Amino acid sequence: MTTPEHSDSVFPLATTVEDFARHVEAVKTRIAAAAARVDRDPKSVRLLPVSKTVPEDRIRVAVAAGLQELGENKVQEATRKYHALEDLNVRWSIIGHLQTNKARDVAAYASEFQALDSVRVAAALDRRLQAAGRGLPVFVQVNTSAEPQKYGIDPADALSFLRELRAYSSLDVQGFMTLALFSDDPDEVRPCFARLRTLRDQIRDVDPDLIGPGELSMGMSGDYELAIEEGSTVVRVGQAIFGARATPDSYYWPPEMESSPESR
Ligand SMILES: *Cc1c(COP(=O)(O)O)cnc(C)c1O
Repeated sequence: MTTPEHSDSVFPLATTVEDFARHVEAVKTRIAAAAARVDRDPKSVRLLPVSKTVPEDRIRVAVAAGLQELGENKVQEATRKYHALEDLNVRWSIIGHLQTNKARDVAAYASEFQALDSVRVAAALDRRLQAAGRGLPVFVQVNTSAEPQKYGIDPADALSFLRELRAYSSLDVQGFMTLALFSDDPDEVRPCFARLRTLRDQIRDVDPDLIGPGELSMGMSGDYELAIEEGSTVVRVGQAIFGARATPDSYYWPPEMESSPESR
């Protein structure tokens, strides 16, 4: 057991079809309640289950329970699962930082890419996608927490970044993605989400074509209700569906990321 919000008691492990069905229903109920609090249609929020670290056999059970789309943070892990589970026709969403040498894999099988944060990666993806004759829905990752070690572009650079992306016609911009500050304090988390929504609205005012449907991918197991209250249209939920992860989050994000604001 690490931090309280990651403890097994909060996120029980799902191993059976019934477990998965129950966990998904519970999350959907909370999505609906959060949406209702701010007069939003719950159908305007898409639930993207995140299966990172979950082994293939348990993913098969999740798919049997009705999950058809899964998020993975690491391309290598996603590629392995894509091949092992090809018979299931899962749609794989890549939600973590991409290195250009993995662009070929993402271009080959991903259904979307949610962590676009550099022109180099955009160019590498576009080259592979053009060769494959396919397009890819992408989200631009924005660093809304001002933590220097976190991935994502600076909000101040969003407009120019989106303008540069127009050169890459295979990339179909859907909107923005962000990770909020890791904190149990809503007063620290909520402003990150609000910042992303404001940024989306500002870009829309300048040139709505730049941001496509203007989706906001924000919210994880610990903070998706807050994110929905702030306008999230995609929540990426792993542990609340699959169960607590043994792998520390520092494996997915640079190690300093879990340092408390006071320590800086
Ligand atoms: C792991 C991960 C999530 C889901 O986190 P949980 O705590 O399992 O809900 C969401 N977004 C990204 C980018 C992730 O890597």
